[in-house]
Amino acid sequence: MRFSRSWLLAVFAALGSVAFFASRTDAQPETIKEILPGIWFREGDLKNLGHCNNILIDMKDYLILIDANFPSGARATLADVKKVSSKPIKYVFDTHHHGDHSYGNSIFTAAGATTLAYKGVAEEMKRYEPGRWQQAAKERKDVAELNQSTVEPPKQTFDKSPYVISDGSRRVEFYFFGWAHTRGDGFVFLPKEQILCTGDAVVNGPYNFVGDGNIGNWPRVVRAAERLKATRILPAHGGPGGPELLTGQEQFFIELDKAVRAAVKKGQRLEDLVKKEGDKQVATVRLPDNVKNWVGDFYPAQVEGAYKEISQNKPIGEILGGK
Ligand SMILES: [Zn+2]
Repeated sequence: MRFSRSWLLAVFAALGSVAFFASRTDAQPETIKEILPGIWFREGDLKNLGHCNNILIDMKDYLILIDANFPSGARATLADVKKVSSKPIKYVFDTHHHGDHSYGNSIFTAAGATTLAYKGVAEEMKRYEPGRWQQAAKERKDVAELNQSTVEPPKQTFDKSPYVISDGSRRVEFYFFGWAHTRGDGFVFLPKEQILCTGDAVVNGPYNFVGDGNIGNWPRVVRAAERLKATRILPAHGGPGGPELLTGQEQFFIELDKAVRAAVKKGQRLEDLVKKEGDKQVATVRLPDNVKNWVGDFYPAQVEGAYKEISQNKPIGEILGGK
């Protein structure tokens, strides 16, 4: 089996229909909830709509929104924002270039907002677009209906981390710690509230897509984020949590790398690590129980990604190059 273009597209399609959704009873997809005064968390319906989570931050005269979502998620979020505040959204921060985080960009700029991102996000868009937009337009009505030939890149980018927005009422810090999920992964930290928004570099559940990633470097990125000592972690997929989300996510990639490395050392090949069972791929390597929150439908692809990184000594995102 190969890590082919069709495989990648299948995974993107699966992002919209992840069968294994963590058995959380507190999940309230497509609703906005105030978690601290002036900070709202909107959990996107990943399973049915492919939406990411959004975080809304109240400033003195305006709002900052984390992630632009897919177009349908952008519209739903805009409607929810109007329910909780009459202030305008001034900034929308793309945590990375993936469609469920950036394809709603033009909806927000049309509404008067400035889209903002670490410069790596714009670079990733140059690398992967317009191919992915055009594929998404075939699969998603909300993308097709925008009648754009490609994603609208962020209007403003920064290259020095952290980039800070402060208006006297609140301080918001935007960080880049290196290549984990993508080459543009942005984190948002509120130092006073000790809140960290992680995008897809840290998720709560089996949602780690590694196709554009750097598995070997991922734990280092999460460790850098841990040094901020946030007490509340707001991921882009799955529910909010505490610092255990950071340590768990870091440990997941450490264990994945360790298990695959050990198998390679024993002379096992990719065909031994990922097997075809009917039309499903099944991974034969096992990870310890303490990281099982992150093990799900993407696991065979994660094992394959780790195997390729280890055997070719290059980030999987570089090996695949968007194919
Ligand atoms: Zn992503």
